Amino acid sequence: MIDPFGRDITYLRLSVTDRCNLRCFYCMAEEPELLAHSEVLGIEELIRVSRCFIRLGVTKLRITGGEPLVRNGIMDLVSAMGEDIARGRLRELTMTTNGLRLAKVADRLRAAGMRRVNVSLDTLDPDLFRRITRWGEVEQVLDGIAAAKEAGLKVKINTLLLKGINDRKIDALVAWAGAQGHDMTLIEAMPLGGLAGMPADQFLSVEDMRREMSTRWTLLPSDHVTGGPARYVTVAETGGTLGFITALSQCFCQSCNRVRMTCTGTVTWCLGQESSVELRELVRTDQHDEPIEQAILAGLAEKPRGHHFVVGADPVSIPASQCSRMNRMGG
Ligand code: SAM
Ligand code: SF4
Repeated sequence: MIDPFGRDITYLRLSVTDRCNLRCFYCMAEEPELLAHSEVLGIEELIRVSRCFIRLGVTKLRITGGEPLVRNGIMDLVSAMGEDIARGRLRELTMTTNGLRLAKVADRLRAAGMRRVNVSLDTLDPDLFRRITRWGEVEQVLDGIAAAKEAGLKVKINTLLLKGINDRKIDALVAWAGAQGHDMTLIEAMPLGGLAGMPADQFLSVEDMRREMSTRWTLLPSDHVTGGPARYVTVAETGGTLGFITALSQCFCQSCNRVRMTCTGTVTWCLGQESSVELRELVRTDQHDEPIEQAILAGLAEKPRGHHFVVGADPVSIPASQCSRMNRMGG
């Protein structure tokens, strides 16, 4: 799948549910409007569409949400994609999770062919964790991470930088992740979900954070690359790898290789743009995969060159259609 700007699209982020067992304030309302079950693709439908993408050239699939581990039948999807790995059709199968249910399934994820998971964790402080997630217990996440490590899964910690909320607690996370042997990435908050319409001065750029951290840590240039938007350093004091993802302050669109599909079958080519393709009706009415694949390719022609998030204006601007909740789009 080569887009009009010559980018090879090989990475599908598949959201399997809009539901979650947490309510991170930047992502979901406390009582969100949830989709009717009939609107959400069934597991067999998700498997079918994923295989269309794989036939078209996707080699890496990340399962996300909402919280993927609360989705009924999630292990059937993981097993099916694991078969595609075993047959050499898919190179990598990963998941982004909040980690709450990881302890229960880590062994099975590994057995199905998964080798890495990303766990979102914004702080180690139990009170702050509860404030950010509205009711989460950080210990449960740490147990999940430990179980994943024990099962042989490589864990990456994803931390959203929240100005005035967790920015003073990042050092503790960096030290912990380094000691545990987990890579870590600091991610710039985006004007989406619970942060839609937020004034520009409420966002902390990871570049500023990196500059500030380098007064306390020795951040050595690293050649670690994952093909994603993160730029990495090695933290000399811990030996750990630390990545910085700048969504807003630096555009990484020129190397974008990804496509997203929501749990309702909406394919979006860019978080910051309006173009999308609806696959649900096709999946439900057509027995053949060819029309689905053709619709994907037709949509690919619309993949924009880059996003239009603007920081500096107040509030941060973003297309109205994308101001929906992050849990629907899949982070
Ligand atoms: N529930 C899973 C989790 O939390 O890892 C997967 C879905 S969640 C939507 C995926 C990622 O989106 C999380 O790492 C979260 O921090 C990120 N996210 C949510 N709202 C965001 C926002 N407004 N800006 C940037 N990232 C956001
Ligand atoms: Fe749930 Fe993940 Fe959104 Fe937090 S970021 S509310 S864990 S979907």
